Amino acid sequence: MRIVMLGAPGSGKGTQAKRLEADRGYPQISTGDLLRQAVANETELGLKAKAAMDAGDLVSDDIVLGMIRERIAQDDAANGFILDGYPRNRQQAEDLAAVFAELGLELDVAVLMDVPTEILMQRLTGRRTCSLTGKLLNIYFSPQEELDACTANGGELLQRKDDNEETIGNRLTVYERETAPLIEYYQQAGLLQTVPADAGVDDVYSRLVATLGRD
Ligand code: AMP
Repeated sequence: MRIVMLGAPGSGKGTQAKRLEADRGYPQISTGDLLRQAVANETELGLKAKAAMDAGDLVSDDIVLGMIRERIAQDDAANGFILDGYPRNRQQAEDLAAVFAELGLELDVAVLMDVPTEILMQRLTGRRTCSLTGKLLNIYFSPQEELDACTANGGELLQRKDDNEETIGNRLTVYERETAPLIEYYQQAGLLQTVPADAGVDDVYSRLVATLGRD
């Protein structure tokens, strides 16, 4: 299956996509993760992307298109993949359609992770990653035992650089302006499915699986 995950920052796209990857075996492809890696490795592309990411703005369409084109051509993506955080505007959606046409691929579904805006801020300001396991946690919502399990073993709860209130505000504005119009774009293409995503991780995952059906 080839899936696009749509949703605001903090809607749980990444968490759910990772779970789907673990269950079904096709890779989660996150442009945000690929870009963060490029920044950490100080590659030329990373250096170009850094300022936009720190400000919560979108990185240029050409940069992300190049990354996506390269990533979906890899062997592990041959039977399907989950795009997480791409496309993020109309131009990227059109670029993606062109790449699919070029490679003879079809998009099966665009899944909107639907979360009321009020909840997103808390999800984002509370978000942490355990430095030992890479597990995504939230200081407001994760069970205390899971948070303690990280720190008790010498791990740190790391916060993403762009998860501060000011940058989050801009990321949500950019989402509304640039990305939310893709809901209608995919609806018109007959590909949109909506998952109410204002619930715990397990419940949302059950809803997602029910929406996708078996592949
Ligand atoms: P994410 O991890 O998906 O929240 O992405 C983190 C940041 O990476 C975003 O705020 C953007 O600066 C950048 N980014 C990720 N995906 C894209 C994309 N498809 N187009 C442009 N910028 C992106």
